[in-house]
Amino acid sequence: MIYVEEEILGHPRTLQICERFPDAEVVPCARYGEVFLRKGQSFRLQKRRPSLILAKKQWGLVTEAPAGFGIPGARNLIVSHMQNCIYDCRYCFLQGMHRSAHYVVYVNYEDFLWEMEERLRGAAAGEVPWFFAGYDCDSLALEPVTRFAATVIPFFSRFPEAFLELRTKSTQVKALLELEALPNVIVAFSFTPAEVQRSLEHLTPPVDRRLRAMEKLQERGWRLGLRFDPVIYCEGYRGQYRRLFAQVFEHLACDSLHSVSLGPFRLPSGIFQGMERLYPDEPLLAGPLVETEGMMGYARELENEMQAFCTGELLRYVPCEILFPGLSALPSPPAPLPPAGEGPG
Ligand code: SF4
Repeated sequence: MIYVEEEILGHPRTLQICERFPDAEVVPCARYGEVFLRKGQSFRLQKRRPSLILAKKQWGLVTEAPAGFGIPGARNLIVSHMQNCIYDCRYCFLQGMHRSAHYVVYVNYEDFLWEMEERLRGAAAGEVPWFFAGYDCDSLALEPVTRFAATVIPFFSRFPEAFLELRTKSTQVKALLELEALPNVIVAFSFTPAEVQRSLEHLTPPVDRRLRAMEKLQERGWRLGLRFDPVIYCEGYRGQYRRLFAQVFEHLACDSLHSVSLGPFRLPSGIFQGMERLYPDEPLLAGPLVETEGMMGYARELENEMQAFCTGELLRYVPCEILFPGLSALPSPPAPLPPAGEGPG
């Protein structure tokens, strides 16, 4: 079933997307919130069989990134064309954020581009604008359907002073391989060790398949990012991360990397409680976590120890200039503002 806002029933992008699902029933609705924000929905049941909702984004097309998020010294901005994710990572704040697991895609990309251009024209001298796509989703996982990246990337050839970061765990790079690589577009892939991927990142492609996708992009000259985010604790985490880094750098050349970052596992307490209700048997949520100033995460000593270990290991492969141990990797929910590390991509 595809729910479509009446206002965009005839939008060319709506028609293109619906064409991909010829057997799906199209159900018009006045506003997407009627479906997405309906009370009494079961996120967990919907996650097994989510519907697509096509809508027009009316406001908030480009928003300021939360403090501490993004590239230090840059103007960090969020562009979010989709809500929810086709993957199912147990540590992701999307699990506890919305009532619905349906996917909302905002089809009015031209309005996003207009707003982005407005921001660029209004930028102060010397300001470096960074746009982060995939605020509430994985940037590329649904690209064959949405074509968002394919639409937005050419915009950045007109504005070489601005940057775009796509954040993904997917292998959906075909659209990028069909485009010319741009030096101001960074395709950042998130990784946890294979053991963590298998147990917590449900439905995501395994580490080796993500690396193959990265290799293809590397061959075509795309600049890449590595996001080890969130860093997940278990007794054998040192060995797991050591093996992961060795595997990653067996496939990737340092000079194709734009940046490498590490992010701690932290969640706003309210979202964490919602996730506990959804998945009461999830060992991750019963792990050695503590609440600090409204955020759930590992105790500061453990977090520091893991960051220090991973930083030391990564410095065996990459120069410190491109390593950002404390870079907020993630966008966060609107309110309360989220943490780095447990989110999209
Ligand atoms: S962490 Fe990223 S890939 Fe995983 S469910 Fe969240 S948005 Fe999707």
